[in-house]
Amino acid sequence: MLTATAGFRHDSIPAARAAVASIAARSNDIVVTATENLADVSAARLASTEVLMFALTTGELAFDETQKRAIVDFVNGGGGFMGFHSATDTLYDWPDYGRIVGAYFKEHPWVQRATVTVEDQAHPTTSGLGANFSLTEEFYTFRVNPRSAVHVLLTLDPASVGAQGDFPLAWTQTIGRGRSYYNALGHFPDTWNDARFQMQIAAAIRWTAGR
Ligand SMILES: [Zn+2]
Repeated sequence: MLTATAGFRHDSIPAARAAVASIAARSNDIVVTATENLADVSAARLASTEVLMFALTTGELAFDETQKRAIVDFVNGGGGFMGFHSATDTLYDWPDYGRIVGAYFKEHPWVQRATVTVEDQAHPTTSGLGANFSLTEEFYTFRVNPRSAVHVLLTLDPASVGAQGDFPLAWTQTIGRGRSYYNALGHFPDTWNDARFQMQIAAAIRWTAGR
């Protein structure tokens, strides 16, 4: 779990780390190492890692070419990738990363309570959410709608923010032999403390790990 930032730093990072630590502590099958040290993302460390999570990362994180190759090889070779919220506001200058996370952040026009539509209620990560749920969040839009390249799980109900259009908020994709999951929620600490969000995180860890 990487929470390093090279741009905006979210106040929710401690809540994110606590939430994922809590998920691990309550499980029999998840061990998480949280770090802000980019050097921890290496081929050697990834060799004993099932899932690489970028949570609330921002900006052009200073990975060298060896580390970038290690991340791409990890995912292509069957490793899991997870991104949360500003993981799409990260590494714009590295297109391979953009493909792994699925999209790049464009803007956040809506910071308010809104309704999220559960587009795929059958996926393990959305199990139990029902047809929709509401929360207060900073809702993202993306430079390119990822829908044609990914499997969309959650979308913003545009009517709930007085807008029109297609606004995916969470998705999965397979990359090589690896699995990638992204969820745009997580701006506020309350989101990380929300049982519905923690349920998605725990399921996504297992899904991206191929369990
Ligand atoms: Zn945010």
